[in-house]
Amino acid sequence: MANAAEPDCLFCKIVAGKVPSDRAYEDDAILAFKDIHPQAPFHWLVIPKVHIATLNDFDPEHAGLIGTLLLTAKRLASDHGLAGYRVAMNVNREGGQVVFHVHLHVIGGRQMKGALG
Ligand code: AMP
Ligand code: ZN
Repeated sequence: MANAAEPDCLFCKIVAGKVPSDRAYEDDAILAFKDIHPQAPFHWLVIPKVHIATLNDFDPEHAGLIGTLLLTAKRLASDHGLAGYRVAMNVNREGGQVVFHVHLHVIGGRQMKGALG
């Protein structure tokens, strides 16, 4: 659920500056930073600053926050002149999620193929 920082959460530590990150953008609600293992020339993660574990933990009250996450993805791509890009979110271990603080992957700078490549 949306709560205060979780002490063991890597991305909460990044929000708090306890773990270093290459920050691209932030405001009161959102942080965007470079993925440490980029899958393409551009690979950012966009996260809410509040701890929300997965997409399944969003409630209707988070609709504005979800919109802001997507608008931040658009802004990052636009600021870097990307003609096209991919936005992805992994949900739960079966969906490939490793860090349980909800995040959008924003990936670009190379040709994307199909759903995953
Ligand atoms: P997911 O598999 O969707 O949970 O993605 C987690 C992402 O976090 C992966 O792409 C990792 O490369 C990335 N990641 C893990 N640790 C860090 C870190 N310290 N700074 C930036 N990105 C990280
Ligand atoms: Zn967290």
